[in-house]
Amino acid sequence: MQRSLSNFVSKNNLKNSNKKFWNIKPLSELSQQEWESLCDGCAKCCTLKLEDEDDGVIYDTNVVCQYLDSDSCSCNCYTSRSDKVPGCVTLTRENINDVYFMPVQCAYRLIAEKKSLPDWHHLISHDTQTVHQTGHSVKGKVINEKDADDLFLHLTGPIENN
Ligand code: SF4
Ligand code: SF4
Repeated sequence: MQRSLSNFVSKNNLKNSNKKFWNIKPLSELSQQEWESLCDGCAKCCTLKLEDEDDGVIYDTNVVCQYLDSDSCSCNCYTSRSDKVPGCVTLTRENINDVYFMPVQCAYRLIAEKKSLPDWHHLISHDTQTVHQTGHSVKGKVINEKDADDLFLHLTGPIENN
């Protein structure tokens, strides 16, 4: 099974955002700018994942979608991603509580679970590079699916541990 998604953050978005909006507003009331600025840019949602049909456990791999630029952790086909990659789920205010396969550190999942954003999140650090500098993105850790062998050879563990 492969499911993945990503969002992107612009510095202008960050400047214009209320710094504490994620603590104050429910997700349903966030503006589009605020919603998109929550994304930490980790690209962990762009790794290919496998689900154990017996127990439903989802395992992560170190293989990423062919459209991910793994140096910048950005999507090369963001506006057409759902067409190019049917398994690339667009995260919304409506489906956030159903996307059980999202990484545990995903900012959307953290906020939906009423948890705090980590210190390395750009809304806290005011630097979009801290996610990479602290090792919380896929940068330098993944290979493109076009270069990968059997996915079972690339398992890195249950997503709840990654
Ligand atoms: S896992 Fe969440 S925070 Fe990280 S890139 Fe994907 S949507 Fe953004
Ligand atoms: S299409 Fe883009 S956002 Fe979707 S999984 Fe691939 S790289 Fe990530």
